[in-house]
Amino acid sequence: MRFASFFDVAFRAFRDPSALSKLVVIIAGASGGLVAYADAKLDRDLASSQESTKKKVLILGTGWAGTSFIRNLDSSLYDVQVISPRNYFAFTPLLPSVTCGTVEARSIVEPIRNITRKKRGEIKFWEAECFKIDPANKRVHCRYTTAANSGRMDEFLVNYDCLVVAVGARSNTFNIPGVEENCHFLKEVEDAQKIRRSVMDCFERASLPNLDEAERKKNLHFVVVGGGPTGVEFAAELHDFVAEDLSKLYPSLYGLVKIEVIEAGEHILTTFDKRIGKFAEEKFQRDGIDLKTGFRVINVSDKEITMRSKTTGEFSEPYGMVVWSTGIGTRPLIADFMKQIGQGNRRVLATDEWLRVCGCDGIYAVGDCASISQRKIMEDIAEIFRIADIDNSGTLTVKEIQDVLEDICLRYPQVELYLKSKRMSSILELLKDSKGDAKKEAIEVDIEEFRKALTDVDSQVKTLPATAQVAAQQGTYLARCFNKMKDAEEHPEGPLRIREGGRHQFRPFRYKHLGQFAPLGGEQAAAQLPGDWISIGHSSQWLWYSVYASKQVSWRTRFLVISDWTRRFIFGRDSSCI
Ligand code: FAD
Ligand code: MG
Repeated sequence: MRFASFFDVAFRAFRDPSALSKLVVIIAGASGGLVAYADAKLDRDLASSQESTKKKVLILGTGWAGTSFIRNLDSSLYDVQVISPRNYFAFTPLLPSVTCGTVEARSIVEPIRNITRKKRGEIKFWEAECFKIDPANKRVHCRYTTAANSGRMDEFLVNYDCLVVAVGARSNTFNIPGVEENCHFLKEVEDAQKIRRSVMDCFERASLPNLDEAERKKNLHFVVVGGGPTGVEFAAELHDFVAEDLSKLYPSLYGLVKIEVIEAGEHILTTFDKRIGKFAEEKFQRDGIDLKTGFRVINVSDKEITMRSKTTGEFSEPYGMVVWSTGIGTRPLIADFMKQIGQGNRRVLATDEWLRVCGCDGIYAVGDCASISQRKIMEDIAEIFRIADIDNSGTLTVKEIQDVLEDICLRYPQVELYLKSKRMSSILELLKDSKGDAKKEAIEVDIEEFRKALTDVDSQVKTLPATAQVAAQQGTYLARCFNKMKDAEEHPEGPLRIREGGRHQFRPFRYKHLGQFAPLGGEQAAAQLPGDWISIGHSSQWLWYSVYASKQVSWRTRFLVISDWTRRFIFGRDSSCI
């Protein structure tokens, strides 16, 4: 899927052990901070001996959030280190296109070192996986594969002053039996490459001699679980691949192909406007894609997928290939970290509005692995009243309210959302509303009236979606805060601190939604832009092409992606099983 979006902000700115002692090798980086896994005391001694005067900023992850942080950070101000198990940034919205060879995998990735070498100051990158965050000692435990094919993992420790956690999420299987073992996921570049090979394998297997029709049909039965943007886009891509390219190469098999989309809810593309979901459902029907809404998959064996619906009860179908795309789950690293810091009952890390992990010092989290826990205005209502009531009269006048209005709207974005939903232009209207017909100038409210007027405001607190657009904006925002850290200490630019007094150093993070796309195949796409502006059809597909071309991270990938599209238009997609 690509419920693609306009990643404006994102791109603009934008990327031995000896068994006797646990004593281990020291791989100390010239940088200081990278220390081999050893006894704890030794590490600390080593780390402090390599002290640099700059603060150590450690970034975990080179996805949307991590890369946009790196691209926007003034790396001359900090000692910057990046750790990620993959040494590249991947443009995930084009992953579905990779599954069918519309674009090549290498066209949508940019080596992270290409990005870091253009930065001021040195940025160190280590290709490794962090498996434990130790907030008490301000360090992380990492491991890396020592040699190709050896499968052996070595471990090391890295110290930090500030940690930016941007490790994203993993596919969610909901612990349904057989999913992990038998389904394909579509999250990483490798997943898309595996799907591409698997689609071709299904066709080659179906064309072997001595198969009866039922066996051929089984091999050509493609199941997509999940009617979200990723599942829908993959189904549409696969349909185009089969109809436009494979039908010519395997003419006798074309009539046996079945593409099925299974969705537990009543409709697909529920994150989009209803009109888009309806258009997609009708288009799928016309294209012969079997859409099963209201069906819940309960088991996937190596041969059959079992599902249940209210109307049909439980039944199984043989399949050739299943792609599982039902949303995201928590990475083990994050689950373990949340347990340590008392957030064990959550799905993602809770941060405050400045993207600082709640309850931790010097740890920030951005992207899919975190969500902002927005402070409720009702929790602070008495304090807000006290601060606003400058003359201690026990009531707020219009002037008193106006004086704190900007800070309130900045600190509690739900106020503006609520006013918008009520079609009101200012909080004064809200107060006036709660006071009846009194004249604006005459408004003077006591604490109870103030509380009553704002009672429902918190209903507008929204959780941000797990999208590249949010991740990239958060990375950019956080980097700018880091760049201004010194300045903002002396000249804080944020809203009033309601409880503690003084001002916040920075304005809180504000997400700006720039719209989203859903490509539906057959050179048609749906676009939903801010202000609920909807466009569906061929023109949106061209808009999609231009947005995605313009949002590529580098001229190199932009050129590669456009040339892949052109190649596809002229020669079709490649069907080699490699
Ligand atoms: P990611 O981009 O997933 O990056 C996580 C990074 O952390 C990776 O570099 C990973 O290697 C690294 N990492 C993982 N574990 C560790 C570890 N233990 N230690 C260190 N590093 C680690 N969003 C949109 O807005 N529009 C779209 O069109 C769109 N299309 C999508 C299509 C597909 C197929 C998919 C899968 C997603 C799509 N998304 C889209 C969602 C978007 O990709 C995610 O929201 C976004 O990638 C989140 O960014 P992130 O930086 O949090 O995580
Ligand atoms: Mg007063």
